[in-house]
This record gives sequence, structure tokens and C-alpha cells, in this order.
Amino acid sequence: MKPGELVHLAGPVWLLVGQRQGAFPFCHGVLIEDGGVTALVDPGCGPSVLEPLAASGRVDMVINSHTHPDHCSGNHFFTQAEILVPQAGWETAGDKTRLSERLARPGALARAWREFVTLEMGFADFRPTGTFAPGQEIKIGSTVLQVVGTPGHTADHCCFWLPQHGMLLSADIDLTPFGPFYGHRESSLEQVRASVEKVRRLRPRLLVSAHREPMRQGLDQAMDDYLGVLDKRDRRLLRLLTKECSLEDLAEASPIYGAHRSRPELTRYWEGKMVGQHLAALLAQGHIQATPRGYQAVPSSEPSP
Ligand SMILES: [Zn+2]
Repeated sequence: MKPGELVHLAGPVWLLVGQRQGAFPFCHGVLIEDGGVTALVDPGCGPSVLEPLAASGRVDMVINSHTHPDHCSGNHFFTQAEILVPQAGWETAGDKTRLSERLARPGALARAWREFVTLEMGFADFRPTGTFAPGQEIKIGSTVLQVVGTPGHTADHCCFWLPQHGMLLSADIDLTPFGPFYGHRESSLEQVRASVEKVRRLRPRLLVSAHREPMRQGLDQAMDDYLGVLDKRDRRLLRLLTKECSLEDLAEASPIYGAHRSRPELTRYWEGKMVGQHLAALLAQGHIQATPRGYQAVPSSEPSP
């Protein structure tokens, strides 16, 4: 797959291959052309992919699975199109300042976030024209997209189910080896697990992730592996917590990212938020206990060597 290539998925539905093969900070888009209407889902494919498509003037409708900038950084190229965003993200959608304060900490960190999405994704403000909510249907010609609410990653994250094709546009339930991301104040580890199980129950024949190649086989195993990353993160934390650690110590040890190489101030913040979610769950399960400095594993919970 080459950036900008349109790969046929089914019927009038095509994958628009993103820069860097759809890897963050870009994503793959999905183009649907049906009944004289052309819709583009998640234009975060990078400027070199989107500029020629925008110049063709054929896109009538842009749909964002959620308000993360790597899924809508190219919305601003399609000023003539209808732009639909999830209802739950309406207040901040397309507004760099509001998004930065929602997804990072207001102040210096939000400023770093704004610089990151501007310089590395080409994100520019845009004005959404409408919203959708879980349970609703979006029609593009005769193609139906059922909106499936899948919060956890962000509060507004949605997948799209195309029943005519047994196809799920899974957005950031992306089934990558990195595993799920839940690094914002509004994110929820528990909801991530529930959302993966919700899309599993749809029994998709084709899963189109925003950040990897479309998948037709082995979906159950891929979902197990994706959720298995969460258990691995728990085990890494329990290993670190054989000694007493503070939240800051744990975030610095980086059991999720492995290191904070690119944009360290942001990845450190997101890592801390994700580690905090695991600690809350491990505390509730009785695997760790609170200590004067932070946390420590309950001895029986220590993993065997
Ligand atoms: Zn996202």
C-alpha cells in the first residue's frame, strides 16, 4: 500500500492509504462514493495525500470518528464539504485551543500539544457543520453507516458499522501491537475493554483500522492480543511495584511507551494518566496497596520470576 493509493474494500468503499502507512501521527482514511455523494471518513492521512483529493473537489462530506487531531488534521482542506463530528466532541471539535486544554493540561503542556499537532500533523482549525450520536445512521447514497459508541480511548470515540458489507471502521480500536491508548482525563481503561468486546459481538467480516492494514482473518485473536497488552502492562507494573514507587517513578520507568523519545513532555503526561488507570484497577482488585510514597505490590500478587 502506498500513501494516497485507494485500495478497494467492498462495494463503493475504499481505503485511502495515509502517509507513514497510516502510523501515528497520521491515519488511513475511508472513501465512500455512492449515489452521487462522496464521503471521506477521518482525513488525517497527511497533506501529501489529502491536497490532491481536495483539489479534485469531489468530497461532499467529511466524517470524524472522534476529535483526535490525527483523525481530523486535514478537515480544513474540505471547506466546501459538510463536516460531521460526534455529538460528544462538538464543543471542542476543530478548535485547537479547546482541544489542547481537553487532551493535555492547560498551560505549558497544552502549548506543547498545539505546537505538536501544528508542526507534525498540519492540523488547522475547522468548523464542523453537524453531529451524529451512537445509535444513529449516516447514509451515503445507499450505503449505511451505523454509529457505534465506543468510548474509553476518548469520551467521543465512535466506530462505524456497515451492515451491508459486514465491515467495521474501527478507528482507534486499531488492533496495533502497541495496544490501546487511554491517556486523557476523560479516558477509561474499563470502557476500552467494554468497547472492544462490543465491536467483537458485531462479528465483522472485515475490520478497517485507522492505523494498520485492513483485516479479514484472525480478528478474534487480534482482539485478544490487543486486550492482552493491557494485562502485560499490569504485569510490568506489578514487577516494578515489588519495590515501593510513586506515580512519577512509575511513569518515568515507562511500562507503556517503553521510553519518552518523541515529545517527551506529552508522552510522560499520557503515560502517567494511563499508569494511573492501571493503579486504580490493581488497587480495587487488591493486587497493590497504597503506601506513604505511593504504591507497592501485595506480596502474593508479585509475579513469579
Ligand atoms: Zn484517537
